[in-house]
Amino acid sequence: MSHFANSVIVKLTRVAVLTAITQVTVTNAIASDTLPIADAHVHYSHDSVEMTPPQRVIELMRAANLKFALVSSSDDRGTQLLTELAPELIIPGLRPYRRRGELNTWYTDEKALAYTERLLKTNRYASIGEFHLYGDTADLPIPKRIVELAAQHNLVLHAHSDAEAVEKLLAQNSAVKVLWAHAGFDDPATISDMLSKHDRLWADLAFRSEVGSGGSLSPEWAALFHEHPQRLMLGTDTYTPERMYFVPEHAAGARTWLATLPEELAENIAWKNAYNLLMPIWKENNAAIQTETENQCTKALQDNGISINDSPITIVKAPERIEVSEPFTVQIQVCGNNLLDNTVTLNAIMPAHGHGMNYAPDHLIVDHTQNYLNVEVKGVLLHMPGTWQWLVEHRSPGNLTTSKYDFTL
Ligand SMILES: [Zn+2]
Repeated sequence: MSHFANSVIVKLTRVAVLTAITQVTVTNAIASDTLPIADAHVHYSHDSVEMTPPQRVIELMRAANLKFALVSSSDDRGTQLLTELAPELIIPGLRPYRRRGELNTWYTDEKALAYTERLLKTNRYASIGEFHLYGDTADLPIPKRIVELAAQHNLVLHAHSDAEAVEKLLAQNSAVKVLWAHAGFDDPATISDMLSKHDRLWADLAFRSEVGSGGSLSPEWAALFHEHPQRLMLGTDTYTPERMYFVPEHAAGARTWLATLPEELAENIAWKNAYNLLMPIWKENNAAIQTETENQCTKALQDNGISINDSPITIVKAPERIEVSEPFTVQIQVCGNNLLDNTVTLNAIMPAHGHGMNYAPDHLIVDHTQNYLNVEVKGVLLHMPGTWQWLVEHRSPGNLTTSKYDFTL
């Protein structure tokens, strides 16, 4: 039991008034493990992926009773693995780092920018960051471009920065919002000034153990929370692989000092502030990709003169001219619902001859979302003229559908 809960019980035995009873009920509800936590500062980088499988990370997050986590990783693969596994639990952020150790070089590294721009073309995110940026380096060309991209793609800037760099980022574009990582490791008075001055600024409390522990909350931080009830949020910062295992402990530790705050304020800091900042952005950006892929599907259907009746629909796109014994590429597109666990493979047979191709082609996944699967089949080679048939095998959990398309070579 927390220190605070003990002190309330003492108070209750001495002055048994109704308000004190109400307070005890509220305190117990808040202090319990059921208070959801949003963890706005999780990394699942390449070495962490090697050490802890994504399933285990999701288990740890569920054990911590996380409402959701903002995850950004170097490289991006870890974030994508978690998002695919538990889309209801993960809000993906795009970190401009390909490997650990780029935090002092990325802002002058064209390749880091190219990497970020490439990922923005294929994936959707709620934030760019967490990146490290201090003082006037925020006005260098690459950080300026990152701010432009954030505005263009509706992304929060998750900045591990000093106050000077935060102000420069905010000044570059009137649309961008900044989530100030670790609240800049600044003192509560400065953080309060910054939040008062900038209405597009939020801050996470990752790695700020001085805020509170063991059921007590520092008075300076308590004052900051009361002054800015809607701007601060929690974060673990799993910047090394072993810290992933600290996520439940961090959540439990935060609950002990959150219990000293009024219920509404505790909930704000525990998860609502993060939710209100990130979830609308994520929902909008995630819906955008669905619309985009649905449009691709609609267009693909129109191009092939097919009308939608059943779902999913498979489209095979082969080149218009196919030469005997010349390799070519075929595209398979699947449009439907819940496609993430689905796979497709292409084969070609000559039904009259009872044989297929002499070589197995390579299957390369180009795009794969809930509603759209696009696979490039490379090295398809038909070794004789005559009547052929495409065979597309579409597998979903517990189901196999084979579609056939006749053609003459
Ligand atoms: Zn971090």
